[in-house]
Amino acid sequence: MSYQIAIDGPAGAGKSTIAKKVAKEKAFIYVDTGAMYRAMAYYLLCRGVDPLDDAAVAAACMEADVTITHEEGEQVVLLNGENVNSVLRTEEVGNMASACVSKNPKARERLTTLQKAIAAKNNVVMDGRDIGTCVLPDADVKVYLTASTGVRAKRRYDELAAKGEETDLAQIEEDIRKRDEQDMNRKIAPLKQAEDAVLIDSSHMTIDEVVQAILDLCK
Ligand code: C5P
Repeated sequence: MSYQIAIDGPAGAGKSTIAKKVAKEKAFIYVDTGAMYRAMAYYLLCRGVDPLDDAAVAAACMEADVTITHEEGEQVVLLNGENVNSVLRTEEVGNMASACVSKNPKARERLTTLQKAIAAKNNVVMDGRDIGTCVLPDADVKVYLTASTGVRAKRRYDELAAKGEETDLAQIEEDIRKRDEQDMNRKIAPLKQAEDAVLIDSSHMTIDEVVQAILDLCK
């Protein structure tokens, strides 16, 4: 049996930074499920699919073959065989993933099946929105990682600024609120804390403190 650590939480809570570090400490693979939703969203954007046209979204999600592989410990997302890592982390792609792909039942079904298969074969740290509730309901450790909206917005702003992307903090905070609202209120697999998940509020914690708290839960 593989060992599974599930980390869920809202946008900008620091899930990927923390999950990567925990994975490194445990020598597990890190699976960023948000990147898979983003890859489908990127495909919709490239095809100019109308996000309000459910049938067109569903059809495009079926054409988008998303898989992942790992190179030197880094997750590589392949969209129809092409490495799309470098184009996934924009606000436009994230908003499209949340507003559109994440609500589509077929897209969720495909990605969930893939995620379960990866976790069945490998020891994983997997992060997302529905990992503890839907994808890995029997995970060995479940964490619900959150932080205040203001702190999350500032972190996202700094992350984008470090990449040279010019953004507006108030706009990012607004986007985060909207994304929370969408992710928590959608009909299928909404973001929520699993009953057996441990809540960690990282607003006033360092990255290393959060990583240590999760490693302690694994003992
Ligand atoms: O985590 P990240 O911001 O990359 O995720 C982008 C979007 O993908 C989320 O806002 C959410 O709507 C969707 N998502 C999801 N289920 C997951 C991971 C991400 O619905 N397990």
